[in-house]
Amino acid sequence: MQIEDKLSILAAAAKYDVSCASSGSRRSNTGRGLGNAIPAGVCHTFTEDGRCVSLLKLLFTNFCIFDCAYCVNRRSNDLPRAAFTPAEIVRLTIDFYRRNYIEGLFLSSGVVGSPDETMERLIRTVTDLRRQGFNGYVHLKCVPHTSRRLVQAAGRLADRLSVNIELPTEESLRKLTREKTYASVLTPMGVIREGIEETREDRKRLRHVPAFAPAGQSTQLIVGASPESDHTILHLSDRLYRQQALKRVYYSAYVPVGDIATHAGAAPPFKRENRLYQADWLIRLYGFSIDEVIPSAAPNLDLTMDPKDAFARRHPQLFPVDVNSADREMILRVPGIGIRSANRIVNLRRRGRIRFEHLKQMGVVVTRALPFIRCDGLPDARWTVPYSATAIAPPVALTPLVFVTDSSFDGLLTAIFEAYAGQTPPDAIQPDSHVQQGLFDQRVTVVTDGAKAARVWKGLKRCLGVEGRQAIAEAFLSGNAGVETLIYTYVRERIPRPNSSPSGVSLSVTIRLDQLARKVREEARRLEGFVRFEQTGKGRYLARIAPRYDVLPLIRHHFESRFADQRWIIYDTVRQYGLVFDGRTTRALPLNMAEPGAGSRPDADESLCQRLWQRYYHAVNIPTRNHPRLHRRLLPRRYWAYLTEKLIPLSRRPI
Ligand code: SF4
Repeated sequence: MQIEDKLSILAAAAKYDVSCASSGSRRSNTGRGLGNAIPAGVCHTFTEDGRCVSLLKLLFTNFCIFDCAYCVNRRSNDLPRAAFTPAEIVRLTIDFYRRNYIEGLFLSSGVVGSPDETMERLIRTVTDLRRQGFNGYVHLKCVPHTSRRLVQAAGRLADRLSVNIELPTEESLRKLTREKTYASVLTPMGVIREGIEETREDRKRLRHVPAFAPAGQSTQLIVGASPESDHTILHLSDRLYRQQALKRVYYSAYVPVGDIATHAGAAPPFKRENRLYQADWLIRLYGFSIDEVIPSAAPNLDLTMDPKDAFARRHPQLFPVDVNSADREMILRVPGIGIRSANRIVNLRRRGRIRFEHLKQMGVVVTRALPFIRCDGLPDARWTVPYSATAIAPPVALTPLVFVTDSSFDGLLTAIFEAYAGQTPPDAIQPDSHVQQGLFDQRVTVVTDGAKAARVWKGLKRCLGVEGRQAIAEAFLSGNAGVETLIYTYVRERIPRPNSSPSGVSLSVTIRLDQLARKVREEARRLEGFVRFEQTGKGRYLARIAPRYDVLPLIRHHFESRFADQRWIIYDTVRQYGLVFDGRTTRALPLNMAEPGAGSRPDADESLCQRLWQRYYHAVNIPTRNHPRLHRRLLPRRYWAYLTEKLIPLSRRPI
């Protein structure tokens, strides 16, 4: 069987396993190998059903001697079967990884021979992969009944291990599969927990202890194949989090597939899976108790409403919450306010009173939050107090003094230096590429000076801290009109000139700068996943991107450490410059590179790899769950031109 057909069959067979995040592990590249693992993980693309594709998710084989009624790969189901060889999986993983299609490998398998034989095959494959110098993320599925020795071996190779508990009660598990018991799942889970705890203890005493599943363990629960309520499911999850120290419990809405006569039941609404995730997050990360999220009197989550909205409506006595004085825990209970927005509110309200118009800029979903909050400037003016004096714009000078820079960041820093060194501070700083000529402006051209810029850069760290300084650099990369003056205003208010009284930083200026920096950071983070390399020669790779902001300086380090053993260029088609990595150093150079399709066609290896990736991308999608709006929100169209999975297949492209 051709590798393309195997990939289609074995990727499709793995697509219902949802436990495929790539977070929680940090492994740096030693410089001799390929790849690394970063704690936050990276989403590399999104399928049309709106799910993130981070790992190459495969079954080693979909042959299986077990007959679990809820599973598409069960022995009695009549479907095409296939099996990879270890070498094929190693090759696919490395080829996809080098092109930045994936963050690593998720490997599972149907049971062939015995659970231990199956597990040995998976371990051999990952051993081969690591021997090839692969440092990327690996998630290995442990088959129920696997022996202690093999679970321990797997833990030394993989970043994350998981054993699927499958159903919410042992009784349901017994009804739907004869071959599995809770003990066959909980025993390997316990071995993993012990391995993680022992490694943690050993590391307190010894410096070099080999890692054991550094990203922890997870499990998956199938929802709706058996009659248990959400209350039962969430209580089981809570027990697993506490007793087995799980990092994640994944919920997978049951999808009846194959022979209808033998399946476990009708499909539950997909929304139910979604609500369980939301409830799980509230309990794990927002500090809600299970009873607050799902009272025993109503054992199923309301499908029409987010669990946080439902909580707020059940507890009207707790609202509205005053965002200027409530503690973080209470702010987190407001619908529409997530963890990051709550942190921003708590940090920024030290600088001034937060008004309603600030909340949207901080990332709050104001339409949801509105009925539950109290702050200045609310649309119905119930709680409005006069706008803080610090938020009022300063009077406009009759003959504004404008410093004009050469548009570089060093130019801006030099202008800030001159603003502090000179007698008269400027009213604005403008780049020569975006000069806005006012009738009475006094314009002074600032000559960029590396030494002055370096002094300001150092001083910013001392006065604003690393994060404050980084926010300035990120906001600058937005290239937005007026960003130089915004940064200058921010710096001037945070660091008063000698002999001038501190004016206090206007909250609006801080929020605007923070918002701009955040947008640039988000774009950079997306691009870390969306860059697609194409092999242009032996060991040489080229990627084209068209980012909204100038993110190359921000993604440089990520690609340097990940692809230290290959030469690559990432070319920004909008700004016509690129990062060129020659295997040792990276240089930012002005380039003028042809658009894709204008040059020579990729060679046979590259074409095969691109075709395989396109096959994989379509195989892991679940068409019955397609969600075009969500898909476009997560993977906006503006990125599609350079995403291999969104290109017209090579076989259909004009020569
Ligand atoms: S053992 Fe795994 S692959 Fe085999 S039928 Fe059961 S769930 Fe499916």
